[in-house]
Amino acid sequence: MLGTVLYGPGDIRCEEVEEPKILAPTDALVKLSASCICGSDLWPYRGLQPVIEPMHMGHEYCGVVVEVGSAVRTVKPGQFVVGSFCISDNTCPHCLFGFQSSCEQREFMSRAQAPYARVPLADGTLVATPDLPADDLIPSLLAASDVLGTGWYAADAARVQPGSTAVVVGDGAVGLMGVLAARHMGAERIVAMSRHKARQDLALEFGATDIVSERGTAGVARIRELTGGVGAESVLECVGTQESMEQAINCARPGGSIGFVGVPHGVQLDGQGLFFAQKSLLGGPAPVRRFLPHLMALVLERKINPGKVFDLTLPLADVAEGYRAMDGRRAIKTLPRV
Ligand SMILES: [Zn+2]
Repeated sequence: MLGTVLYGPGDIRCEEVEEPKILAPTDALVKLSASCICGSDLWPYRGLQPVIEPMHMGHEYCGVVVEVGSAVRTVKPGQFVVGSFCISDNTCPHCLFGFQSSCEQREFMSRAQAPYARVPLADGTLVATPDLPADDLIPSLLAASDVLGTGWYAADAARVQPGSTAVVVGDGAVGLMGVLAARHMGAERIVAMSRHKARQDLALEFGATDIVSERGTAGVARIRELTGGVGAESVLECVGTQESMEQAINCARPGGSIGFVGVPHGVQLDGQGLFFAQKSLLGGPAPVRRFLPHLMALVLERKINPGKVFDLTLPLADVAEGYRAMDGRRAIKTLPRV
């Protein structure tokens, strides 16, 4: 079968790879309905994360189970499933506490930019739909696997409350999903920090009430202005750079919360500055599994349409163009057809 392999910065290839098979009794094999390219795939693609050996890409997935190992109990062949990008048993103390992305048996999914994928710990990781979903819901269900779940976690970690003000730093796919999540959680005012027209438009469609195109100190000043000089209760940090992290912390009011889900690259925080800022920080890889049943139900009931975040669809064989388009910000998120 064809699969996507990253050999080095900018060197992404769609080539013949080995077909996955059941390796452990807890595995499931899934025929993927669609695949996608994640913003985090761009870190190694851009050379900002070393590529020591060829990386088999793809960690967002949904599709139909074709085979399960002998110990799998909760999913069976023929069922449509969505899984988190974090593999988890859903039974250890961290999973039971709602932090499946810190599972004692955690693994990170890979090799899902391909027609088939092996999912370890299938019972803990996968959630099945009651029936096979309509085709037009596939992009939204795929989004639940990571980008939506991560935006949702950013809002949850930032403690978005009904009636509150939320600021979203970052207008990539995760930031846009953070806007959608904050809207769904009842935030009254949602400020999207973005300077790209197409992304601003999508943010407004997902529920943003204000757009701030300034960044850095000027961006923080605008947020202060919009909040009567106080700052926001909730800030969703969806980038992972020093600038975005500082901007997020400075946009929050004392006692406010920052949910940070952009994988930090070179971020350094000052302990004393944090001490006097009096703000709550919670981040990390999103425990998507905690939210999956709820998010899948919202999609199946057509209450949310996160699949809109995919603005480029192409055949898997053209996956390199998908990476280039996202890298050049010509596409928000790419969906390679498998
Ligand atoms: Zn666990």
